Amino acid sequence: MKTKAVVLKGQNAKEKDKNILLFSIDEGKIWATLKGVRGEKAKLKYAKEPFCFGDFIIEEGKGSKIITSVDIIEPFDELAQDVDKYFEGNAMLEIVNALSFDSEKVAIFLNLIKALKILAFHKATQYSCLLKFLIDVFSLYGVSLYSQKCTSCGNVFHDHIYINYNVGELCCTSCRPFQSEEIGKGEYNILKLLSQNDYNKLPTIKFSSELGLKLLKILVNNFSYRFDKHLKFIGILS
Ligand SMILES: [Zn+2]
Repeated sequence: MKTKAVVLKGQNAKEKDKNILLFSIDEGKIWATLKGVRGEKAKLKYAKEPFCFGDFIIEEGKGSKIITSVDIIEPFDELAQDVDKYFEGNAMLEIVNALSFDSEKVAIFLNLIKALKILAFHKATQYSCLLKFLIDVFSLYGVSLYSQKCTSCGNVFHDHIYINYNVGELCCTSCRPFQSEEIGKGEYNILKLLSQNDYNKLPTIKFSSELGLKLLKILVNNFSYRFDKHLKFIGILS
């Protein structure tokens, strides 16, 4: 099988092997083994690193899949050289790892590559790539977060805006249920900008990292309600 994939993570295995969790555009998440890859002179050693994006050739071995060849398209080395970018990129991989895929996997895959490219090669505002990726995940799973009006009563927002965690949509003060949280005007504005612009516009969208972090925490709570998975975001939230 030949497939485009991104390395999500790896675990050391016997001898110098490494088991790699790949996110494949065709197959979703798959574990496969890189043989003898932990040696200094190993031909495929770059293919074991997280973020590595390439064409992988995978064969059925005895009891596990074996990666026999990798044609690296983009290693995203830059992400390992900047700790803030590394943590932000790693958080995206954590999101992919937490999801289960059906028809969404191609769109999620393409979004991941776009988000990693902007993060690695452009000066985007801190957290903007991660926030955009997460906002688009909700949309792709059929629960778009951003709306101009209260999704319950249909009135325009005139004072406070809340996220209704029961359904993952925005609502007004009168309609908010017990499981809800207020979204400040600043966070709402970031949500709007990131929902309405594509990845290539991210370097032009500016906001403080404090506001970005506030919105990120709300999105992480929403993710827990929608997908029943708690995101840790090491280096950012923990
Ligand atoms: Zn309402």
